[in-house]
Amino acid sequence: MAFEALGLSENILKAIRGCGYTTPTPIQEQAIPVVLMGRDVVGLAQTGTGKTASFTLPMIEILSGGRAKARMPRSLILTPTRELAAQIADNFDTYGQYSKLTKALLVGGVSMEEQIRLLDRGVDVLIATPGRMLDLFERGRILLNDIKILVIDEADRMLDMGFVPDIEKIVSLLSPMRQTLLFSATMPPEIRKLTQKFQSNPKEISVSPPASTSVNVEQFVVHTTARQKREVLERLIREEKVQNAFVFCNRKRDIDDLVRWLSAKGFSSKGMHGDLVQKVRTETLEAFKAGEIRLLICSDVAARGLDVQGLSHVFNYDVPYNAEDYVHRIGRTGRAGMTGRAWMLATSDDEKNLKAIEKLIGNSINAQGMPASSGDSRMNAEPEAPKRAPRARKEAAKQAPVKRPEQAERQENPARRSKSVHDSQEQVDEGDVRGFGEDLPGFFGITKR
Ligand code: AMP
Repeated sequence: MAFEALGLSENILKAIRGCGYTTPTPIQEQAIPVVLMGRDVVGLAQTGTGKTASFTLPMIEILSGGRAKARMPRSLILTPTRELAAQIADNFDTYGQYSKLTKALLVGGVSMEEQIRLLDRGVDVLIATPGRMLDLFERGRILLNDIKILVIDEADRMLDMGFVPDIEKIVSLLSPMRQTLLFSATMPPEIRKLTQKFQSNPKEISVSPPASTSVNVEQFVVHTTARQKREVLERLIREEKVQNAFVFCNRKRDIDDLVRWLSAKGFSSKGMHGDLVQKVRTETLEAFKAGEIRLLICSDVAARGLDVQGLSHVFNYDVPYNAEDYVHRIGRTGRAGMTGRAWMLATSDDEKNLKAIEKLIGNSINAQGMPASSGDSRMNAEPEAPKRAPRARKEAAKQAPVKRPEQAERQENPARRSKSVHDSQEQVDEGDVRGFGEDLPGFFGITKR
């Protein structure tokens, strides 16, 4: 099917041609005609499927026929994160470049003054995170009675982030005479309930089974130990032809540590997490997109929905606690028909979460390390420090007893030490702290002694 057959007008088709899109993606093909008919839609689609255009394109078409009044936006898009909101706003700018629509981005972390000024002038499209949206409403800066189209994007992530009460409050302020579109990568029972509450006879469109991973992403897992993770990651970045990558950590404090460590190793890297001010997050993302930064070390929340063209790799430095996060993480690569590679570092503590991921995606993840297809990676490798023999490493470790964070923690917490079998195994390898010892992953191509 061609875009021309979907019922969009020439102004929008011209903008689509400008983007170089030739055919609609499955979610676009199915959702656009239904949205144009004015029907409610539940879209089960992960990011990377073209879902943003599946609602922005028909919205531009519908909204082009009217004008907004001061403080009375005509449509509202709720998204979980500021970055996602900014991306949707970019989509409106691109697809709506020949249509005279106005929009405002209401996100936290930036000054309210400009947002209020835009609202006062009247906007067709409001793109908001729930907190800032309610804040401005409570200050009397927005009237919500004229909202004709409501979009709830990444609903499952909103649920994870605890936004459901805010969303319920916002929806209670809207007129029931509206069209509601809800998009979610997965459909947990709580989201199903929301669709029943907020929507009227919605058309359900599912473009891939919930929580499936893209066939364009090759997935690998390396079994390692907490202590070896950094070195394994370093080695992977050198061995794989990493053009640009997201590296996911489970905890914010690990992000900053990893950024420092990778930077010291000569990799251009920056952190991306919720504690950073919006200005820094925006600048970092722009620099990453421009190729000035090679590695973005991020948390799930900050990276959710980030759209970076041609991301070559995703590294799960930590196995995510929530199996669905794995699907979202690796969905950052292999987008829009391109291929990508996703690596995950798993320790023995991660077994349960790893099994949950494999159950969710319906496959076991390739655990054999570096596959041959990555080419002669040594051609790509940067110079390395000469490797010492195990005995020499043990001697060096004795002479320079640098306390690693894990060791320090163990000493402060003897109870944990005595309970953990895993830890006691690690004690045996103490002399190999700076090397890989007997646990050296096979793909490193160095023979064990
Ligand atoms: P999304 O799932 O909305 O995050 O979109 C993923 C990526 O696909 C974005 O970079 C879009 O620019 C791109 N995209 C959206 N629709 C199409 C299309 N019909 N053909 C090619 N690329 C597309």
